Order: sequence, then structure tokens, then C-alpha cells
Amino acid sequence: MRMQRGRLLAGAAALVLASTTGIVVAARLDHGSAPGGTAAASKATAGSQGISGNARKAALDAILAQRATAVLKGDPKKFLASVDPKQPKLVAEQRVLFGNLRQFQFSTLRYFVADERSAPQMEEKYGKNAFSTRVMMRYQLAGLDPKQVQTDLGYTFAVRDGRWILVADDAIEETLSDDGHRQAWDFQPVTVIRRGKVVVVVDKTEAALGKKIAGVSQTAVSAVRRHWPRPWDGAVMVVAMSDPHVMSLLWTTGTGTGWTIAAKAVTLYDGEPLGVKAVVPVGSRIVINPAVRKDLDEDLLVHEMTHVATVPIGVRTPIWLVEGVAEYVRCRSIEDDPHWTVDPYRKTVKAKYLPSMKVLPGEPEFDANGDRSYGQAWWATEYLVSAEGVKGMASLYTELALRSTSPASYAAIIKKHTSKTPAELVAAVKKFKG
Ligand SMILES: [Zn+2]
Repeated sequence: MRMQRGRLLAGAAALVLASTTGIVVAARLDHGSAPGGTAAASKATAGSQGISGNARKAALDAILAQRATAVLKGDPKKFLASVDPKQPKLVAEQRVLFGNLRQFQFSTLRYFVADERSAPQMEEKYGKNAFSTRVMMRYQLAGLDPKQVQTDLGYTFAVRDGRWILVADDAIEETLSDDGHRQAWDFQPVTVIRRGKVVVVVDKTEAALGKKIAGVSQTAVSAVRRHWPRPWDGAVMVVAMSDPHVMSLLWTTGTGTGWTIAAKAVTLYDGEPLGVKAVVPVGSRIVINPAVRKDLDEDLLVHEMTHVATVPIGVRTPIWLVEGVAEYVRCRSIEDDPHWTVDPYRKTVKAKYLPSMKVLPGEPEFDANGDRSYGQAWWATEYLVSAEGVKGMASLYTELALRSTSPASYAAIIKKHTSKTPAELVAAVKKFKG
């Protein structure tokens, strides 16, 4: 699910609607994937040189275990011991990786061989025994992740002088999950800044920016906790690096000329990272578009952090309420400051977006017109809060997240909480004056 929203640009004393800049926010919730669970074990097929699949898996798992232990204990020599010494570039990259991983404070970390992926070019280059495989990385970050999560990477190993060594880490990138081998530690040297439960990741050369973002993030966490009534511990990672490939390849979305995405909440799962997910995410990381990282507004973080706070409840809430709640919390947080107002946004929504509304916006409507859909979603949520209270709105969100499995169950839940059919709800939202 891709989400976007029209973005408000802040003036000195009042907010004006920026209809032409179209900076947009996206969150990916259920990006396709099979029910979670552990990765498929590699098949025990005999290797061409008589190395049995089982023996190979055992040998490679041992190397991977040594690398994980090296990260946990801070032993770069052990981490690099399995890296091909004849490739200075690979060794240097792995050294950067080690330095980056050390900063994230893993409370658990395990790598293991998952499924073999054929890479004939690697066999040509490193010999018939060269073995390319998806590797699962299962971990938990201290003070951040409520439980373990998984991501994947692709390694190629080859036998030299009777032992397995790592010869490549980029041969099977296209077979990995969307954020596979594109985690914050997989690129240039980083600085990880921790402020309470907030973790900010920036380029090593941009530590000052990271400290600034950490401060703004803490304020944003407080705002979410003030306006979202259900429990959230405020633990969140904000990635604001210069490389546009970190945890994302796309920073535009929508139809027509498209939208620039300002930030995303990228979800984390326990289990197989590939395929359609049927399980609830463990959590999410906020990734900032590199183009806006130096000019990051608090309200953008508030919007994304609302997703972080609500995503673990469940994935079945319709997009209009997912984005509506994020906009509701964002707008309320802006108006916490008596010098700021979202009145211009209110006027635009009422005059421009509501009259043509036929349904509460779904994926096609968000895709076709982000500004309009975010505005309608926000207004629908404001209506729910006025009619049911903020706790009533949150309880509707929660029941939809857990039990909205069909149009019929969706309608039944809406009826139970609002005494209205979906069509009557649309009519009430359009009439709502705010
Ligand atoms: Zn959003």
C-alpha cells in the first residue's frame, strides 16, 4: 500500500496550502508477501564438486554465526576473517558495514543461509563451487524493536585453499525483498544518534544534522502521544541519509506527473521478507527523502510517527482512516501552538475537496489525487472525533485493523461504531462543518 498526502508548507504565523509543490508522504504497509514464518531451509542437494548441500549449509552458517558474534562483541578481525582478502574494495566495504552495524546496538543478531539463488556469472568468475544464496538477517535493536525482525541479503561464497570465503555481496540483489540489502547500515559510513527512545541515522559527515533531527523527533513523539489515545512507547528510528537507495528505490508516486514523496514509514516483519504478508508488522522505520532531510518539518515527522504508532495494531484499516488519523494528529499538533493554524487547509478541504466526494478515498483515489484524498481522509477523521470522541475514533481504527476482512465486515464495523452505512458516513462527513 502506498500512501501520499498533500503537504502543508509553514509560513511565519499561519500555514498556507502548497498546492503546486505537491510534496507527499508515503507509507508502505502490506507490500506483498507470504505469511511470515522462517525462511525456507536450503535444499540438501549434492554440490558439483562433491560438497553436499548439508555440509555446505553447515559451513556457511558457521561463518555467518562468527560474523554475527563479531558484531555483538565488537571484533572486526573475526567479522572480516571470512572476506576474500584478494578484494581490497570488498574488504573496505565490509569494514564500513561492521563499523555501521556496531552503532545500531543489536540485542540479538543472527544470519543464516536461506534459499540458493543461481548466479552463473559468479561461477564463471569464482569457480564451479561458487555458491550464491539469500541470507536471512534476524535481529532486534536494543530499546527499539519489541521483538525480532527479519531482512534479507545476498552473498556469494567460494572455496579457496579448502575453506569458504565471501567473494561478493551484490550478485543476486534483484531476488531480494524490497528493502533487502538496502538497510541503513548497507551504504556509506553512518552516525547513529540516540535520544531516549528516538534513534536517528544520518551520514557520518552529517552528525550535526542528526542531532537536530533527534530533537525535532522527540518533540514529534510527544505530539503523537498527546493526540493518539492508544498506548505507544515512542520508540522510533528516523533514517535521514543522503543516499536515495536506503530502504527505498522510489521517491515519486501517483499517476500523471507523479508526486515527490517526503517520507515513508517502512514496515518490519518477523519472518520471510518476500511475498504477501498476512501477519501484523512488528513495527516500522521512518525514512526521509534525502532531498528534504536538511529542511525537515516537525509536522511531517508527526504524520509518519502516527503510522509508526498505529501500524502494529493491524493492517486491515482502510487507507482513508490510516492517512486520516496521521493527518488528524499532524494538524492537531500544529494547532497545539496558539500561533499556528491549519485554517487555510480547513477552508481548502471544505471548498475544494468535499463537494465532489463520492466515497471515502481508497487506493485509486489517493493515486489519482493525493492532495484531495488526504484532505478528505483528514476531514472524515475529524468528523469521527467530533461524533465519537478521539477514543471512539481510535476504537473504530482498531476494530477495522483487526477485523475488516471483507466489504461486509467493513460495513458492519462502521455501522456498529457510527450507526451509519458507509454511504451515510460519506454524507455526514460532507456536511460536517468542523
Ligand atoms: Zn501517511
